[in-house]
Amino acid sequence: MQTITRFAPSPTGLLHLGHAYSASLAWHAARESGGQFLLRMEDIDLTRCRPEFEEAVYEDLAWLGLDWDPPVRRQSDHFDDYTALLEKLSDRDLIYPCFCTRKEIAAEVNRSNSAPHGPEGPVYPGTCRDMTESERQERFARGDGYALRLNMVKALARVVVSKLQFQEVGKGYIQCNPAPFGDIVLARKEISTSYHLAVTFDDAIQGVNHVIRGQDLFASTHIHRLLQALLDLPTPSYYHHGLISDAKGRRLSKRDKDATIKSLREYGYQPEEVRKMIDYG
Ligand code: GLU
Repeated sequence: MQTITRFAPSPTGLLHLGHAYSASLAWHAARESGGQFLLRMEDIDLTRCRPEFEEAVYEDLAWLGLDWDPPVRRQSDHFDDYTALLEKLSDRDLIYPCFCTRKEIAAEVNRSNSAPHGPEGPVYPGTCRDMTESERQERFARGDGYALRLNMVKALARVVVSKLQFQEVGKGYIQCNPAPFGDIVLARKEISTSYHLAVTFDDAIQGVNHVIRGQDLFASTHIHRLLQALLDLPTPSYYHHGLISDAKGRRLSKRDKDATIKSLREYGYQPEEVRKMIDYG
């Protein structure tokens, strides 16, 4: 089987060395086996994404010598696909509207001393889970904004939890445990999808069979595996790589202006010197 990998940045800032490392690992995995390396813009948050950052992704990858197989998939072109998935989950009574604001959730979590913490922070206390249909209709009629949340208990009852596994290259099969995440958001208030939903569907629709991404997303894979089971999507193999840190040992982020590929280029570094900085071989 041909290996299909991808690099999926969010164009909300400039790429840094950590992104270059991730892209380079995925590029090598594809090219060394005669496979495909795809590029996807995870640009669902239209308020934070900028065309100049998307342009910079193309420029930086090309400068590093990392060519991709067209077409580039832009998530913002596919909101209809995500809406169709949400309708499918809604028809099966697996999602519900949540009208809570961040503030209300934080207040509710603070009120209850025993509020559980999941891998993504405090677990949603379930305030809107059991709203009556008439209450919901009233809120819709008032024009109140809402997110859509997965009912985790119902979702887990629809799958065989012991079969929720994925292959982590170099480690073997990992058993997933999505329950501690609680009722995760599958469509944000103004966005009508979420990272988890869009990334899971897009990896499947693009035929990606080997996902290479940072260790920071390892926990998310437990959710993605559950969504694959619920939506009848294939499960790729995964490799979650270590994160590149700065001289003080802190993880690089989009705030580290000196470590952006653009600034390294402007300082006069050559592509092979940058490739050496992220040398993993
Ligand atoms: N868009 C995500 C990011 O830039 C990466 C998603 C993924 O690789 O699954 O952090």
